[in-house]
Amino acid sequence: MEKGIAMKVFQAKDYTWEGVEKLIYKEDGSPFKDVTRQVLFDGAFDLPVQFRYFEVGIGGYSTLEHHEHTHMVMIFRGKGECLLGTEVKAVKEGDVIVIPSSVFHQFRANQGEPLGFLCLVNQDRDKVKLPTEEELELLSSHEAVKNFLEK
Ligand code: MN
Repeated sequence: MEKGIAMKVFQAKDYTWEGVEKLIYKEDGSPFKDVTRQVLFDGAFDLPVQFRYFEVGIGGYSTLEHHEHTHMVMIFRGKGECLLGTEVKAVKEGDVIVIPSSVFHQFRANQGEPLGFLCLVNQDRDKVKLPTEEELELLSSHEAVKNFLEK
């Protein structure tokens, strides 16, 4: 067990953290645009969770997906919009978003600012699922969702 990790302070500077690599958001071929990932905590001791910082560049978006595991998200930088199920919500720095199991979600930096968010997940979690064409059609039948996906 790496005891040292519990004592470490990762200093922040301009939305990066000393010693933390800026990674590609996803490498599983999922569709997304201009998103980086930094893993701030990757489980230790009795805390089997990952705490990540994602940043969506202006005009970018995260993957439209659902999965069994839950996300707890806090907006850390800027503003944008998020899709939760069939609802589109404006989100800004400080907002907290709980994404329950099996709910479609996507973040978009569509308000002229980057959108950075912290995200807490279990280390042990199921893989993300993308919408089928049928599901995408159903989602797009909601006017607000259709507009969101085109923005
Ligand atoms: Mn997700």
